[in-house]
Amino acid sequence: MSLDILEPASAVEKGPDATSASGLVSHRDLRRDDYWHRIPAYAAVGADEFHTHTFQSRQTVTNVRQLREALGGVAPETFYQDVLVGLKNAPMALRISPYLLSLINWEEPYRDPIRTQFLPVASEQSSNHPELRLDSLHEQKDSPVPGLTHRYPDKALFLPLDSCPVYCRFCTRSYAVGGDTELVEKVKLSARVQRWEDAFAYIASRPELEDIVISGGDAYNLKAEQIQLIGERLLGMSNIRRIRYATKGLAVVPQKILTDTGWLDALTRVVELGRRLHKDVVVHTHFNHPNEITGVTQDAMGRMTERGITVRCQTVLQTGVNDNPTTMQQLVRRLSYINIHPYYVYFLDMVPGVEDLRTSLETGLNIEKHVRGHTAGFNTPSFVVDTMGGGGKRDGHSYEYYNRETGIAVFTSPSVKPGAWFLYFDPLRTLHPEPRARWLVASERRRMVEDALCAARDQTRG
Ligand SMILES: *Cc1c(COP(=O)(O)O)cnc(C)c1O
Ligand code: SF4
Repeated sequence: MSLDILEPASAVEKGPDATSASGLVSHRDLRRDDYWHRIPAYAAVGADEFHTHTFQSRQTVTNVRQLREALGGVAPETFYQDVLVGLKNAPMALRISPYLLSLINWEEPYRDPIRTQFLPVASEQSSNHPELRLDSLHEQKDSPVPGLTHRYPDKALFLPLDSCPVYCRFCTRSYAVGGDTELVEKVKLSARVQRWEDAFAYIASRPELEDIVISGGDAYNLKAEQIQLIGERLLGMSNIRRIRYATKGLAVVPQKILTDTGWLDALTRVVELGRRLHKDVVVHTHFNHPNEITGVTQDAMGRMTERGITVRCQTVLQTGVNDNPTTMQQLVRRLSYINIHPYYVYFLDMVPGVEDLRTSLETGLNIEKHVRGHTAGFNTPSFVVDTMGGGGKRDGHSYEYYNRETGIAVFTSPSVKPGAWFLYFDPLRTLHPEPRARWLVASERRRMVEDALCAARDQTRG
């Protein structure tokens, strides 16, 4: 076979995609217009006021009445009703910043990727997969003290608080994060120093622990003193080499980085202390769609870069938000452009109330193939499944067995739970009618799962 069948000579001469160079730089077009002026409640608000963390937190929308007050006639009355009913079946309370609200295209709210993530609508909710569980990751089961999950050998997840600046519909920690909803009464993990002391004592007592994820909740909601206290306590332990503060803040209220100097200074002090101790202190954030990145995000990241703070991104794959190669390529390029390293893309966890957002494993693995090779390897995220039952994160491609008919994938996790099998299930709506019907019969369900486990055993033996 001649080589030019594999690689057309023209591509070699022109360089990759030379014909669509403009498409390759569109990720640099970051919005700097007065987009919030289209929202009646913010129409008279100047940029100086809108771009402050105080305005953003004071005007945060937490119920449908406030949503209607902010938007007025920009959204139809039927939309508010749809959200009102949607919230009754939602695991997360409503909380959205004026900034995000202004970035939604209110001419087509049902198609908007930001609306989809923060405002549940009853008309799009679908019934849960029979295998869904609250706390599907068994974070509470792997907790030696409340608010600390120790699953992997050398790293642990510390949850200092249970609130965030916004609430994402699909939050994995809907068992604890945010206010109670009609669907879920939450485990309370308030920001109490005594509970933290128990966590610190445990971390100090386990010499194998080197790496602590400070999540929640969201580090944005910790006070400056708390950021510093937690950082100094952890860096002061001889076993701890790496800490990460997890915050969605850069994606939802980037203004805070620019106007809450006390908070950023506290974070910077911890990063600098880490540097002096030759330890690693970074920030992990969470963007899901290129529209979440604007001029103000770029300014905020400029500040982080000046202070030498490394930022990585964890993305959640969601239907109607980022479940296609073009959107994910654009997201990865835009993040890279402002110095955020794309780290993970998570398949949506098997939690109730957000089945409309989950994708099949196949969808995500196909997107991965298009993203890999698009930019630098260190800016190419791994697509991971956090397995139900506490097997931990697995590379999506590493399944032992995957039946696209029944939508069952089987994983192993030899370094976390050797010998155990872990399952991931495609949403029923992505299956053909016949296997979908089988899922509604309990005995058939068991048989499909047993068949998948048998096949996985055969495969790994073979
Ligand atoms: C995700 C996670 C971590 C960190 O894992 P990385 O793969 O290093 O990002 C640690 N502990 C728990 C329980 C986690 O879920
Ligand atoms: S910011 Fe993170 S922890 Fe908070 S609701 Fe969203 S996904 Fe959950």
